[in-house]
Amino acid sequence: MKVLKFGGSSLADAQSMLQVADIIGQERNNTLVVLSAIANTTNELQLFCTSQTSTTTESILESIARYHAKLAAELGLSNDSLLKQKLDFVFQQMQELKAKPELGDSDIAVILSAGEYLSCYLLLALLQKQGMSVAMIDSKDYIVAEGATLDSRAELTRSMRKWQEAAPTFSHINLAPGFIAATQSGDACLLGRNGSDYSAALFSYLTDAQACEIWTDVSGIHAADPRIVENAKLMPSMTYQEAMELAHHGAKVLHPKTIFPLQLKSIPLRIKNTFAPADSGTLIQPLHHGQDSIKGVSYQPDICLLNVSGAYLRNSYGSAARIFETLAAKHISIILISQSSSEYSICFAIRNSECKRALHILNSEFENEIRQGQLNPIQVDKSRAIVSLVGQGLKNRKGVAYKFLQAISHGNINIEAIAQGSSESSISVVIKGEQAKQACQLVYAEFFNRRQRLDLFIIGCGNVGQELIRQVYAQQSFLQDKNIALRICLVANSKRYVSCKDGLLESDWQTGLQQSSNTLSKEILSQLLASGDYINPTLVDCTCSEKVSEQYADYIEMGFNLVTANKKANSGPYSYYQQLKMLAHQKFRKYLYETNVGAGLPVLKTIDSLITSGDAIHRVEGILSGSLSFILGQMEEGKSFSEAVLETKSLGFTEPDPRDDLGGMDVARKLLILAREVGAQYELSDIVIEGLLPSDFNLNGSTEEFMQRLPQVDHYFAELFARAKSNNETLKYIACFNDNKLEVSLQSVSQDNPLYSVKNGENAIAIYSHYYSPIPLVLKGYGAGAKVTAAGLFADVLQNIPHREQEISS
Ligand code: ADP
Ligand code: ASP
Ligand code: MG
Repeated sequence: MKVLKFGGSSLADAQSMLQVADIIGQERNNTLVVLSAIANTTNELQLFCTSQTSTTTESILESIARYHAKLAAELGLSNDSLLKQKLDFVFQQMQELKAKPELGDSDIAVILSAGEYLSCYLLLALLQKQGMSVAMIDSKDYIVAEGATLDSRAELTRSMRKWQEAAPTFSHINLAPGFIAATQSGDACLLGRNGSDYSAALFSYLTDAQACEIWTDVSGIHAADPRIVENAKLMPSMTYQEAMELAHHGAKVLHPKTIFPLQLKSIPLRIKNTFAPADSGTLIQPLHHGQDSIKGVSYQPDICLLNVSGAYLRNSYGSAARIFETLAAKHISIILISQSSSEYSICFAIRNSECKRALHILNSEFENEIRQGQLNPIQVDKSRAIVSLVGQGLKNRKGVAYKFLQAISHGNINIEAIAQGSSESSISVVIKGEQAKQACQLVYAEFFNRRQRLDLFIIGCGNVGQELIRQVYAQQSFLQDKNIALRICLVANSKRYVSCKDGLLESDWQTGLQQSSNTLSKEILSQLLASGDYINPTLVDCTCSEKVSEQYADYIEMGFNLVTANKKANSGPYSYYQQLKMLAHQKFRKYLYETNVGAGLPVLKTIDSLITSGDAIHRVEGILSGSLSFILGQMEEGKSFSEAVLETKSLGFTEPDPRDDLGGMDVARKLLILAREVGAQYELSDIVIEGLLPSDFNLNGSTEEFMQRLPQVDHYFAELFARAKSNNETLKYIACFNDNKLEVSLQSVSQDNPLYSVKNGENAIAIYSHYYSPIPLVLKGYGAGAKVTAAGLFADVLQNIPHREQEISS
């Protein structure tokens, strides 16, 4: 004997029913086929039970009847009068029950299981029409169950006795409605929602089946619910224990009670796809063949977390037992328990729907203790979810739990309770319900996906922003080869933004942005993140806006990693700079700003490495302005000051108004950031800034007016250069951090200074430290321009991709 079970999703329409008939037709030996109700019928029947008005009641019943009649017609069964009689009987019985003044649980069981009978009658007629030898048995006659009427548990010994007494004679194919059973006294009861899987396992047990197959709409058990994780990996095999844990922790593909009866007789279970019967599915059997591994991540929604705390728990024996016994006596099932080692608090998870009742029960049981202050008022957190990682690999591999928790915290998700299954084949956390899907995606990515994803939100699309976008698209195929999916999900300027959760297309983003009429705000970013659609969300600030930089703390709080070319935050008040770094650390986010100094040159990284490895930096000297370096270079080659500024400006190497460069403020900001990275607490006001121009030069008026006045100082600069040259020196605009002194100024440097030869827009930084002394460590190269700045940002962005390890599932 073999037992097959077809779920509601396999019976949704005539085409699917024919497919089911086809699969059954392939069976050569005696087969028992357990059927669910046609998809969604049980939900409608549930509404039927609870509906208060006769119009709703009628219309629900009519809609179910109409659908079944339509199916019968499409299957060519319209003239089957026996079928019609059977269907009518079911509807009549439901109407009669609904007319009762009050529905008992057993009446509800009859109504809710009607869908299973309807689908059995339809398939029976179809198989008979196809000429198969087929009969139907009533599961109520064989499966005896106890416990809550609508969520009962089979009594195996009694069921077996009944089965043996009745000794049913078998046809080739035998249909049985799933979900339904009877109590010892013969009243109808249910095996719990989704319980037809359990029915199939029970019939397998009763018939000593050689195999049980559950046919559904997916090709087996995947490492995550395929509705949540696209292309989730299919698991070819797993142990009973693993399947049970996955099902228990919410993988809807299997009812949690299914495994137990199969396990008792070592009956193998296969999950198969009705719509892809050739796929081999997932085989679930007693022992593992092959490596222990991680099998999947699943989640249970609609959970409530209760926290009982107080001195009573520490001071009395059996206090925990009393809590759980009280709840068990009232049939409240506890899904997860976590107790603090101080024994001062116990928190446990139950279903949301049972929360009010549980609270009431506990409050009355512990009324005295609460009144006397020995227990605190019971704390309740509703709308939680349990996310679990399952696999026997948890037992033998080190660091799995750590990776699991880390993956979740990378999503900025707060973990409220942790529990490890006693079998050590699962570990679970309780988190806010709305974050469960994202948590599953993150955990899946951590354990099963060698492909890493990072979603970019780019603010500012001037020269640097556009260049970064260009580089990201240009690098796509290289990144894909490295298993990295880097998607640009949002681009914004100060007026509009365009976003797409699946990543913007290179060909679309510009038009999308032009056509958009929406301005980006903090609230919109927060809503986007809350949707849970984004993985490793990383915000890149390509603006130089102070307004944007003032929101960095909010962005990090929301859960963004932050990469910025904008110097405003790090060169603002020291307290804000420090706050951002601390916040990023606390929230497990990255805050990266390598391009703040020297564009793409690895300046801050180098300083960090030196300090971390124990070196002491006492002086940093640098040419930190590409524009000033270019202007001075031109003058060294013989151009006058005004010619050099004009040329540099016309090449686009200065700010639109060259006064922004010539004044030295930009360089001062960079120096401040450098000094802070070295570890000193400076403010911008601590820096002595000497602009390039003499202090009495008139800086007023428009850019043009200012530019026209420049020849007035040509002579002054020519003289300065001549004097420097006569000493074998040259002029450089230098930022210097020397012990406690911070200064930016024009200086005459000798040929032995490493900065002497820096020109043509290059930046250079000489770091003098304990190890690098007297010859400094020098970094030199282009330190400005959209290309190198964007490349620096790109490098920072890629740092947000977590370090990948080999896939650890089998
Ligand atoms: P049936 O109607 O056949 O009983 P269900 O809807 O009860 O089908 O169960 C199948 C569904 O379970 C799949 O469509 C899938 O969305 C969901 N599911 C949840 N977790 C998993 C998982 N880990 N692997 C496969 N399917 C899963
Ligand atoms: N029809 C029932 C339900 O929807 C049982 C099942 O499908 O397994 O819960
Ligand atoms: Mg199901």
